[in-house]
Amino acid sequence: MSVETVNRGYVYSGTPTSDEAESYFHQCFGANRLMYNLHTAHLYEYLEKNGYTIGDKLPTFKEMGMPTVKEFKQTRMNEEGNKYLYEVDAFASNEAKQHFKKAISAFDKNAFKGQFKKSALKRQKTLGIEPTFRDLKGMPKFHSRKNSKLSYTTFNQHDNIFIDENKVLHLPTARKSKLSEVTIKLNTHRPLPNGSRIKHVTVMTNAQGKFEVSITVEFEMEVESIGIPAVERILGLDYSQANFFVDSEGKKANYPHYYLVMEECLAKEQRKLSRMVQGSKRWERQRLVVAKLNTKVVNQRKDWLHKKAYALANRYDMVVVEDLDLRAIGQTLKLAKNQQDNGFGNFRLYLKYKLEQQGKYFVKAPKTFASTQICSDCGVKNTALKGDISTRDWTCDHCHEWHDRDHNAGLNLRNYGIRWIDEVLLAPLLVAA
Ligand SMILES: [Zn+2]
Repeated sequence: MSVETVNRGYVYSGTPTSDEAESYFHQCFGANRLMYNLHTAHLYEYLEKNGYTIGDKLPTFKEMGMPTVKEFKQTRMNEEGNKYLYEVDAFASNEAKQHFKKAISAFDKNAFKGQFKKSALKRQKTLGIEPTFRDLKGMPKFHSRKNSKLSYTTFNQHDNIFIDENKVLHLPTARKSKLSEVTIKLNTHRPLPNGSRIKHVTVMTNAQGKFEVSITVEFEMEVESIGIPAVERILGLDYSQANFFVDSEGKKANYPHYYLVMEECLAKEQRKLSRMVQGSKRWERQRLVVAKLNTKVVNQRKDWLHKKAYALANRYDMVVVEDLDLRAIGQTLKLAKNQQDNGFGNFRLYLKYKLEQQGKYFVKAPKTFASTQICSDCGVKNTALKGDISTRDWTCDHCHEWHDRDHNAGLNLRNYGIRWIDEVLLAPLLVAA
């Protein structure tokens, strides 16, 4: 038995308990957005004045003389209507700076590619307008009131964030605020784990404008290891585009048909939306239809993923998966593209913690492990399969065994797990003995 400290996030829908609280939250969102935009404006000004060569990294905060959050606040204070910057949670303003820094380093990673957005290239072709640095892919851009996600995050200091017995979440405000605290009634379907401490809270609104709260907590969890001799039931899972996954027993995940129907329905409504005039009344109405349906589809899928992971964690002692670059896969999936779907990634995460809660094992085979190419019977690699994703079954040149592609990959992952027990779990014990 061992005790481990675990961090976990929980999302609840909620309702601010007063109009004042609701407008306070909107002020926090506003401060976060304004601060981000001030950083962006400063960057653009600097690049315009000093010139920018496409392909270069962006200047550092020091190089461009980026004002501090405090300095930004001071200059804005002289303008009418910005007093609220001092009345909102200080974290809301500082968060923007962190996000902006992240946006810069994300851009720098791909800066050398110097790719322009499609829309800018189209404009160049049709109107002859030359694209500028502002049109580069990944360049930090202004957050508009309409199209950006509204949120702010605040951190727990000396227990100034807590949930009372009526399931009301209490959050701190700034010292200069008229409100001593703000409260939001949570719609909790799942309680927080016993003895958990709140680390930070993000208040946000979803696509329908309803409030949601994400609470990150830390708690101690007792983990009882099932012990090495008890690792008997081992399952290999191979990610499959068509079936979600195929396991080492040849079973498919069976993603339910009625969820697919919902997803098709969503795609249809989205197509409708794309044909409407943006900003029109009809468009606005259709946008809500899509948003509602989207939430429903996301929740349904999540529910299914949780149930599936739960069932596997109960049945097996160890599950082995591939360490795939899921973002690369996501781009090839039609549905994934517009839904930012990372279904398999989330599934692996759920599976990992559901197994570990029971003291069981979750193992990732490295990216270099050629799970699809190895013959699970004789171990000889069929390199002809490399980069070929259309061949669904094949016969081994060496031992002449016929393989279903996905099932074979699942078996290889299972074999990897068996070796992992010897090499990772048992070997250190042998050395110690
Ligand atoms: Zn073979």
